[in-house]
Amino acid sequence: METIKLRYIYKRCVIKCRAAVAWEPNAPLMMEEIEVAPPQEGEIRIKVVATGVCHTDLYHLFEGKDKRGFPTVLGHEGAGVVESVGPGVTDFKPGDKVIPLFLSQCGECKFCKCPKTNMCDCSWSSNYHDIMSDPTTRFTCRGQPILQFMGTSTFSEYTVINQIAVAKIVDDAPLDRVCLLGCGIATGYGAAVNTAGVTPGSVCAVFGLGAVGLAAVMGCKNAGASHIFAVDINEQIFEKAKIFGATDFLNPKAYNKPISEVLSEMTSGGVDFSLECVGNTEVMRTALESCIKGWGVSVLVGWTDVKDFSAKPIQLISGKTWKGSLFGGFKSKDSVPNLVCDYMTGKIKLDEFITHKMSLEQVNDAINLMKTGDCIRCILNISK
Ligand code: NAD
Ligand code: ZN
Repeated sequence: METIKLRYIYKRCVIKCRAAVAWEPNAPLMMEEIEVAPPQEGEIRIKVVATGVCHTDLYHLFEGKDKRGFPTVLGHEGAGVVESVGPGVTDFKPGDKVIPLFLSQCGECKFCKCPKTNMCDCSWSSNYHDIMSDPTTRFTCRGQPILQFMGTSTFSEYTVINQIAVAKIVDDAPLDRVCLLGCGIATGYGAAVNTAGVTPGSVCAVFGLGAVGLAAVMGCKNAGASHIFAVDINEQIFEKAKIFGATDFLNPKAYNKPISEVLSEMTSGGVDFSLECVGNTEVMRTALESCIKGWGVSVLVGWTDVKDFSAKPIQLISGKTWKGSLFGGFKSKDSVPNLVCDYMTGKIKLDEFITHKMSLEQVNDAINLMKTGDCIRCILNISK
């Protein structure tokens, strides 16, 4: 009797909604009706209100191209409202405002218990980074399971996420702006303030001025850097970088020698901190080479897993440090609610990153805009 009742509830609770499905790599997303299963033990079903489009979505579609990562629903920079919760969920209730987290924080694994890192053993990235999703999914479409990209899938009206990968935020947070804290802005900002550990009076260089790089500039500024070199091949972005605190601007294409040499000459030997926010292994090497020997720190923030990188060992032997940063080194569940408050009190900017607003139906236009360099962040309004 009990089973029949449960089955009835299960059936009743499947939601049919609109989502943009990526059926295969390198093809436009298709608007589809998908079925979203009710939340299971420890899970939360979220009505997505707004989402940003991040370069990592484009990476999966156009660069990573691992067929096993498809079909999928992309999107990992969203915010929404809890629709329902599964058994065992006590910290969330319907109506709560939330930000889905592509990096979980279970609080139980040895990484979560260690203050040195924000890695979490329960994250899809620990075991399934090649397909950029956890193979278990709550989505189906036309009778087929559809993956949830980075465990989140915010290009959908509804999504289901384990409570270890959801942050509860204050009730008055504007979801169409704080969604950016689900990825790009937290990533770049944290890479500067946490991973690099930018110090007051230091000289910094940020390579790549998309939302991630501009947020890194903002982090360098808030940490008290005296000079922030903004490096990009798209000079149109330099005016914007000024707003976030950049003081000097370099286009590598405008010089007939490596930009690391230019930087070295301008700074008597190199910068104290450099951050690579492009996702290009050549630029990663350049960023390392732009650091000063002895104490320079270079951080990889750009995402790529398709190519190896290389560098001369002397770069590290001479005392430089090369490190990487996922989600800005922030322990996700603990930090995102605080970052939302930092935005509400004016400590960090978000509005200035938003250059376009569109509907979910226009997602392919938003993706194309990201490729042109005219767009820093496009916010897709998913539902009211
Ligand atoms: P974006 O495409 O909006 O910005 C990239 C910028 O790099 C553009 O302004 C472009 O003109 C510039 N650029 C391209 N080639 C360059 C070169 N050779 N030298 C200097 N600048 C160059 O991307 P985004 O959304 O800001 O993301 C940036 C990177 O960060 C991506 O690789 C993304 O996948 C990655 N990312 C990493 C994490 C993480 O946790 N580590 C999280 C989010 C995004
Ligand atoms: Zn992202």
